[in-house]
Amino acid sequence: MIRVEEARQLLLTIVRSMPAEVVSLRNAIGRVLAADIRAPLPMPLFDQSAVDGYVLSSRRLPDGSYRVVGMIRAGDIPPKTIQSGQAYRIFTGAAVPQRAYGVVMQEHVQCTGVRLDVPADRIVQGSHIRKKGGHFKKGAVVLQRSALLNAAAIGLLASLGKQTVRVYRKPVIGLLVTGSELRKAGTVLREGEIYESNSSTLIAALESCGYSVKQLAFARDRMAEVERQAKRLMKVCDVVLFSGGISVGDFDFVLPVLGRLGVKQLFYKVAQKPGKPLYAGSLGRKIVFALPGNPASALVCLYEYVLPTLDGMQMKPHRGLVQVRLPLASELSLKADRDQFLRARVVHGHVEVFTAQDSDNLRSFAESNALVFVPAGVSRLSAGEQVIVHLLPQQEIVASNS
Ligand code: AMP
Ligand code: MG
Repeated sequence: MIRVEEARQLLLTIVRSMPAEVVSLRNAIGRVLAADIRAPLPMPLFDQSAVDGYVLSSRRLPDGSYRVVGMIRAGDIPPKTIQSGQAYRIFTGAAVPQRAYGVVMQEHVQCTGVRLDVPADRIVQGSHIRKKGGHFKKGAVVLQRSALLNAAAIGLLASLGKQTVRVYRKPVIGLLVTGSELRKAGTVLREGEIYESNSSTLIAALESCGYSVKQLAFARDRMAEVERQAKRLMKVCDVVLFSGGISVGDFDFVLPVLGRLGVKQLFYKVAQKPGKPLYAGSLGRKIVFALPGNPASALVCLYEYVLPTLDGMQMKPHRGLVQVRLPLASELSLKADRDQFLRARVVHGHVEVFTAQDSDNLRSFAESNALVFVPAGVSRLSAGEQVIVHLLPQQEIVASNS
């Protein structure tokens, strides 16, 4: 059986970037740039006022004042030039005429009719003028390939007049849920049956990370059924996730089916808790994960293996959950035989590990905002000791000073 770190390293060897596609800016949040963006325009686009006030010529009138000869509003075409002794009323964002000396804030002047008095210490050359190309020149690389598009990056592209952007395509994800005991909500359960929940959990977790499941299928624990659905999903998806049926039971058919479909096994079974029977493999550029059916195991494996893989396929600069180091709120005793992902809660800069860690228990997971990673070999940790914390997405984390 391999360790968590080896499994992660192996996954890196099969991750290939998705092809690029062009999307509208409206749909670009959270996507990753597939090409450098060069500025088609300088920024700012022209010399403009940074404040509401007056734009001044370089010389005063003989009596030391200026004469206000007009007004320039944002969006106005500015006068060609400004003559000696002249001033224009000007507003934020308005174009400054050529040869303007500087802009003075309206709070710092006295204006009586057309006479403007400006204290000498309130005006220096270029004051309150945003220079054309001051942020960047035309042709400059303003965003690099592999940059994650956040709201500001999308705004920057919009400010350059862009309507679309080239990003890596998101992988098409399929999910095949196996298990003869599973029933949909709304049906009456017979003895021995349970409500199927992994599809809800996994779809929600993926959506909280910006991914969606395009193909969802169900199969009972019958070889032919699992194979038929698996074949279909493998055809149309970039990534196929299986839920359940990957353990060693007589009715766990996922492993033999994957073999029959020609999927190349990357690893099967990781020395971890929860999620030991995790499987990963590939068929051409397609990636397959078989997640253990136990609800908490399936979710941990999704966060710890599937998510970094999907992020990698999109060339995201950061892959998987955000990791931090935090002190433990209280001491912890562990079985040291496997690497562990412990459900936990970060509160006030400390991390509290839940006692309930069973792989079939979603109750404590529902209250968790983090997973604590403890490597095999560690059997005791004291309160205050720093541990590795993986922050779960879309969680409220109470910071230390709040
Ligand atoms: P398996 O990995 O198929 O052996 O399943 C392990 C445990 O997880 C069993 O108790 C299953 O009933 C349960 N389980 C498997 N799949 C699901 C599912 N989709 N929803 C809820 N429980 C499941
Ligand atoms: Mg099963």
